[in-house]
Amino acid sequence: MSRPRVVIIGSGFGGLFAARALAHADVDVTLVSKIVSHLFQPLLYQVATGILSTGEVAPATRDVLRRQRNATVLLAEVTGIDLAAHRIHASKLGEDLSLDYDYLIVAAGAGQSYFGNDHFATFAPGMKSIDDALELRARIFGSLEMAELTDDPEQRRRLMTFVVVGAGPTGAEMAGQVAELTGHTLRDDYRRIDTTSARVLLFDGVDAVLGSFGPKLAASARAQLERNGVDVRLGAMVTDLDADGLQVRYSDGRAERIEAACKVWAAGVQASPLGAMLAEQSGAELDRAGRVKVRPDLTLPGHPEVFVVGDMIALDNLPGVAPVAIQGGRYAARRIVDTIGGTPPGADFRYHDKGSMAVTSRFGAIAKIGAIELTGFLAWLSWLFVHLLYIVGFKNRAVTLLHWAITFVGQARTERVTTQQQLVARLAVRQLGDNFSPTISGTMESDDSTGEGTKGR
Ligand SMILES: Cc1cc2nc3c(=O)[nH]c(=O)nc-3n(C[C@H](O)[C@H](O)[C@H](O)COP(=O)(O)OP(=O)(O)OC[C@H]3O[C@@H](n4cnc5c(N)ncnc54)[C@H](O)[C@@H]3O)c2cc1C
Repeated sequence: MSRPRVVIIGSGFGGLFAARALAHADVDVTLVSKIVSHLFQPLLYQVATGILSTGEVAPATRDVLRRQRNATVLLAEVTGIDLAAHRIHASKLGEDLSLDYDYLIVAAGAGQSYFGNDHFATFAPGMKSIDDALELRARIFGSLEMAELTDDPEQRRRLMTFVVVGAGPTGAEMAGQVAELTGHTLRDDYRRIDTTSARVLLFDGVDAVLGSFGPKLAASARAQLERNGVDVRLGAMVTDLDADGLQVRYSDGRAERIEAACKVWAAGVQASPLGAMLAEQSGAELDRAGRVKVRPDLTLPGHPEVFVVGDMIALDNLPGVAPVAIQGGRYAARRIVDTIGGTPPGADFRYHDKGSMAVTSRFGAIAKIGAIELTGFLAWLSWLFVHLLYIVGFKNRAVTLLHWAITFVGQARTERVTTQQQLVARLAVRQLGDNFSPTISGTMESDDSTGEGTKGR
């Protein structure tokens, strides 16, 4: 008799930890993901700012699971889920596949939300993928290179103005690191520009930086960022954004146009569209961010064989953080093992909050661990410890620690390689048109407004 088939969608925290939790189970696990790696999103901003390389934050999933004989890894994007047939449909670069399952764990995470202004994405990449981080790295260092070349003071000011939209953990950490770069690390690298004169602006419509940490820590985070050179502007809504800059409206009614070449969007999330697909077929509700209202045991209503975990779920106001996904993935795996073994269902999913933290500068951070609130160096040390713990693989931990020593003690950045292709990435894809579908065979299909076609060019 064949073993139960467990299909997992996603190689992020939820998907990977679910797969690993099934290592000793008598099941066949197939992990399908649209990327080849497990991505440690919390450290993406360090890839963008030249601290870490991509390999440290994104180890190959295939490598992580190489010794797990019951697990198979497939690179494909899931395009359809048929709950009635117990089947998923997926494709990658023109290759289609379908997979039948006995149990399904959906851990497809969330993407960036531009709150209905999707055209902003072209000019202000978010921070969700390796592509985003490399493109932002190219934009940050590229802006400074262009500033070094130009003699026009207005152009130079525009090129040396860096804008981050969204003062949550991603935005605050990103703004802090760009300020660190321009204010300290790069100050001897250029001959014609003074990087310490660069402006780093952090915008948010709300009235606190890192407001979810509570008023005391939020105030400390703001002060730390400002000391580090970040111009924090709260009660500020970004109303328009283009290649050259952005338009801001403040809560007191003022409006301002800011010229800035490099913009980063860290303001909102939208759950994977797979959530809507599951909701439509199961009758589950979705919240405003497209998250699925799952049952307390993380299953879909009427489908005890389908689990949804991590950033895709709306349950008890749980935050979209890595530990929720990890614990959810492990819980789903345990439920599946129990069901197969005939063990009566255990308790509902309960999240154990081990705290949260965010870095604001070199040796500066805030941390909330239960009732304990830390700021400054102590908070930074706990951040260091916790993040090292969650990085997958001993080799990655060792190399990351080395890079942190180089960056924080040595005040240098070793991962500053950028390429022309990274710089023009999303603009080039946009120019190819909506119907562009890449293949690896060397041909291109694209939106053909000229009537001549681009195939084989
Ligand atoms: C910049 C940033 C900083 C963050 N900082 C922190 C932090 O400091 N602390 C913290 O706890 N949390 C942080 N988070 C949140 C944390 O990273 C997420 O909560 C966590 O990654 C969620 O895990 P997940 O498995 O649900 O989704 P993800 O980790 O996003 O994984 C989703 C997976 O699904 C795959 N996928 C998506 N759609 C498809 C599809 N159609 N077909 C196949 N595969 C698909 C993706 O490729 C990916 O592998 C941060 C997030 C970001 C973006």
